[in-house]
Amino acid sequence: MMAFINHHQIPLLAETDVLVVGAGSAGCLAALAASHDRKYKVMLVERYGFPGGTSTQMLDTFYGFFTPGDAPKKIVAGLPDTIVHALHETGDMFLRPNTYGAGTGVNYNPERLKHVWDQKIIAAGVHFLLHTTLVDVVIEEAEPISCIFWNKSGFYKVKAKRVIDASGDADFCHLAGYTYEVAGELEPAQSMTTTFRMSNVNLEKFQQAGGKQMLKEKMKEAVETGKHALPRKEGSVHEMCQQGCVATVAVKVNDLRALEVAELTQAEIEGRRQAFIYETFFRQEIPGYEAANIIGLSHQIGVRETRRVYGAYRLTKEDCLSGSMPPDRILLCGAPIEDHRKGKNGEDETFWQYIPGRGVYGVPYGTIVPQGSEYVWVVGRCFSATHDAHASCRSMAQTMAMGQAAGLAAVLSLDTDTAAHALEVSRLQEKLLQVGAILEIPETIADTSRSGWVHNFSKTRQ
Ligand SMILES: Cc1cc2nc3c(=O)[nH]c(=O)nc-3n(C[C@H](O)[C@H](O)[C@H](O)COP(=O)(O)OP(=O)(O)OC[C@H]3O[C@@H](n4cnc5c(N)ncnc54)[C@H](O)[C@@H]3O)c2cc1C
Repeated sequence: MMAFINHHQIPLLAETDVLVVGAGSAGCLAALAASHDRKYKVMLVERYGFPGGTSTQMLDTFYGFFTPGDAPKKIVAGLPDTIVHALHETGDMFLRPNTYGAGTGVNYNPERLKHVWDQKIIAAGVHFLLHTTLVDVVIEEAEPISCIFWNKSGFYKVKAKRVIDASGDADFCHLAGYTYEVAGELEPAQSMTTTFRMSNVNLEKFQQAGGKQMLKEKMKEAVETGKHALPRKEGSVHEMCQQGCVATVAVKVNDLRALEVAELTQAEIEGRRQAFIYETFFRQEIPGYEAANIIGLSHQIGVRETRRVYGAYRLTKEDCLSGSMPPDRILLCGAPIEDHRKGKNGEDETFWQYIPGRGVYGVPYGTIVPQGSEYVWVVGRCFSATHDAHASCRSMAQTMAMGQAAGLAAVLSLDTDTAAHALEVSRLQEKLLQVGAILEIPETIADTSRSGWVHNFSKTRQ
């Protein structure tokens, strides 16, 4: 394979057993799982100055731990639970029961979450490097994989026996020459969203004036009368852990490609423009928001999908909607297909399709193994799925569960000197069950309303 850079001249920074590229929710869990039994050297590399990816750059709610509907079941567990526990210990999370949408959310303080990720990664003995971007890959037969990184100190090489691509954009797979679909090629790509947080909201006054229903009506009215050029008539507007603070996921930027940097630049500017249209709307129209201000925009615009790698298996819409439970499943998902995109008439539309029957499907191991790869896994929002299936299986409980599976798979592959595609999945499943993962649909409904279950998650709010 041709490298873009003459890698022979680049100094060797480290040799590691498992290298994880990208410290988003998927990558952090992959590193924690790979280092769980402290057998192998694990390295985690991230381009920004903090871990968490989308979880800390722009969001405050883990979806996907629970199924939606009136009878929520908890379907993701194991190492992802330890993150929620840590947030719970300092009072930095609460449950937000929803019967609609993606179901009960685990709301958290994203700033505290950065610290939690740091602490977990360090405690697990992971070699952790921030501000460091993967820029090239060299794969030579019978050699460890060489990954070239750039940071303020220069170019560096890391040699790794196993690699987990958790970059969200499948940067490793792209540079290594694996095949993938780019969102927008076959079906319209999901829109991008700048999220924002407002402080000084009088929530009591907001509730007394009609709360979310009133907000929905005012948004509709604002769009229909043309008074405020809101891009969407709906969106998630919810209370945060911090007193008097509200998070909003409503901006919608379409028709720009996130992998083309000139277009991504335009998207960032457009996202910020829209956010301040909402700020004016809230301040002028919504009781309780008169003195509120935006105190934080997302670190970057939220990108829902870019590259989706072709794996040994590709999750499809049919798999999701038939509630398929393949024998080689490595995690469960119950989130609906939630597709944010421009409708036929150019209007804002979000398409929802719920998982029928028992409301859950299993995700097979092959979805995290890139086609033709020997010692590589791909997890998180760039895993192997069609557009529709991805629109269901992209919540953070699922991306964490993928990371958990890939980290344990890398360990098993080293233990048994086996390639990713030849791994005995039943042995991986044993390891998953040992750390507490859920691979069967629970019979009992999760009691999300009292302490003592969901591991003492005691506070719930609407
Ligand atoms: C606007 C928006 C709203 C959403 N709302 C929710 C929600 O409320 N709840 C929910 O559960 N899910 C939500 N999702 C989906 C979910 O957040 C994502 O699917 C999930 O966080 C993806 O996790 P990831 O680890 O795969 O990728 P990311 O979180 O994108 O992490 C990838 C990491 O890799 C790093 N990286 C990238 N390239 C390189 C490189 N070359 N070298 C080194 N590091 C690199 C990035 O900086 C990043 O930290 C939302 C997504 C968006 C965009």
